[in-house]
Amino acid sequence: MTRSTQLQQAESQDFDLCIIGGGATGAGCLLDAQSRGLRAILIEKHDFASETSSKSTKLIHGGVRYLEQAVKQADLNQYHMVKKALRERLTLIRNAPHLAHPLPLLTPCMSWMEGIYYTAGLKMYDALSGDLSLGKSEWLTKEESLERNPALTRKIHSTVLYYDGQLNDARYNLALVRTAVQRGGIALNHTEALQFEKDSAGQLVVLHVRDRLTGRLLRVRARRFINATGPFSDRIRVMANPEIPRRMRVSKGVHIIVPADAMPSDTAILVPKTDDGRVVFIIPYNGKLMIGTTETETELGDSQPVVESSEVDYLIGYVNRYFEQPIRREQVIAGFAGLRPLLQANPNAESKELVRDHEVEIDRASGLVSILGGKWTTYRLMAQDTIDACCELMGKAAIPCITDHIRLVGGEGFAEDFWQVLVRQYGLSESVARHLNRQYGSESLAIARLMQQNPNWSETLTEETPHTKAEVVFAVREEMAQTLKDVLARRFGLEFTDWHTTYRITETVADLMAAELSWSDEQRAQAVQEYHAEIEWFRKSAEIV
Ligand SMILES: Cc1cc2nc3c(=O)[nH]c(=O)nc-3n(C[C@H](O)[C@H](O)[C@H](O)COP(=O)(O)OP(=O)(O)OC[C@H]3O[C@@H](n4cnc5c(N)ncnc54)[C@H](O)[C@@H]3O)c2cc1C
Repeated sequence: MTRSTQLQQAESQDFDLCIIGGGATGAGCLLDAQSRGLRAILIEKHDFASETSSKSTKLIHGGVRYLEQAVKQADLNQYHMVKKALRERLTLIRNAPHLAHPLPLLTPCMSWMEGIYYTAGLKMYDALSGDLSLGKSEWLTKEESLERNPALTRKIHSTVLYYDGQLNDARYNLALVRTAVQRGGIALNHTEALQFEKDSAGQLVVLHVRDRLTGRLLRVRARRFINATGPFSDRIRVMANPEIPRRMRVSKGVHIIVPADAMPSDTAILVPKTDDGRVVFIIPYNGKLMIGTTETETELGDSQPVVESSEVDYLIGYVNRYFEQPIRREQVIAGFAGLRPLLQANPNAESKELVRDHEVEIDRASGLVSILGGKWTTYRLMAQDTIDACCELMGKAAIPCITDHIRLVGGEGFAEDFWQVLVRQYGLSESVARHLNRQYGSESLAIARLMQQNPNWSETLTEETPHTKAEVVFAVREEMAQTLKDVLARRFGLEFTDWHTTYRITETVADLMAAELSWSDEQRAQAVQEYHAEIEWFRKSAEIV
């Protein structure tokens, strides 16, 4: 279904549910609602996963640190939270195996005592996952550890190996949206919720929406409105009910990227304790090395958060304590910053002490249903709780949630070795075929067919990346991409991992998009100029040349 058809349908029918926000939480709600037979629409201000849901550490985890807190504080609530998240790990991987997989991690120990402590903790983590474990944790000697990850400092005593999951967050988010749309849901990116209309009892009945690409205004009618705007939740809550007290606190987290050769290993490192009591990960991701994250209490602004120079220095300084060959600032090639939606439990608590659990809030005065807090790993449970609450409000409580076994687009029929078929039958190079199979799963066939249709599209965009021209065409035709950033950040992930390459290929991507979307020469030139300026701004802020 094209965007214009979806826009028409947005006004021509009454929906059961209108979901505001197209991150993991909103996309999960759309799929859950649609798969229960409800008529649902999703309104996203920028692009799907344009905010926090594409800026995460990309871990599907129960939270080793939360387990530590649960044990230390004898907190049963945190214990159950970890257990639930551990169960979700496997569900996320099973439903989109091309976009999520198990990830081995090493926890460096500087002494024998630390080894005992982390082994006991990670064994408990294993036990909690039960038969849903992704692999057994193991205490490794110094020699075994260095064999597994030679980048580690020779000062370690030992390491503890354990397993969590890793996902391509932006593409997973998109797969959720597209699976819901295949089931009849409507999902509009670049549309902003502006204000509500209420009935005589003060209940929300209409949402006024602006299409940010054309300026057109729409009225969306629904029985219930769901606020799934993550860090922006308070803004929608206040829009619905100006009297409502604020519930959210926001903390900024940044990651930086260096080339993969800085750590020649597929086993990530968890730095268990920074001086201010957090954890930092060093993780192989999409052919690069990702380091993060920071945690800084912040206020919501109008522009996207960016990596600051001091944050680059902080992360490098910290991880170099664990590297034999220190990472140099000149090696940093990109970075990204996101905002954690933290549910305010105790207004006086430090943000790192807040429990990252979620809550479905029903504002009786306006009828708005808000889903607050949570994390990527638990998006499906958050959606389930939200749609359960809505069903109850609408007198449809008997319809059960079925999302735990819905395969997402590309996940159905996915096989790890399918890339060989692409090589044999479509003549693709091994690197392109492997890349397509990982990013698109069984949909990689559709891209190979585009290449057959137009052999020019089988060219890669540069020699530095396996991304092909056909994928730009696919992103526009099938994945609802409307802007250069939609393609280069969320569909390709390149903006997050390589600013230089992103800048270089912008012109070629613009040519392909202009042809697909009938952009004029002026529109094309303006799009390139604005996007280049944005990348320059990222570089300047992080002081990366
Ligand atoms: C640095 C960092 C690392 C993290 N790492 C992990 C991790 O490894 N594992 C994990 O499980 N979790 C992690 N998280 C948490 C996780 O990423 C978030 O909890 C999750 O992505 C939040 O999703 P969301 O859909 O609620 O919010 P968002 O992704 O922010 O989505 C909200 C959407 O609402 C839209 N919106 C706002 N206002 C409007 C409006 N008026 N009209 C229409 N749309 C609107 C926004 O554009 C946005 O797209 C991390 C978070 C951060 C910041």
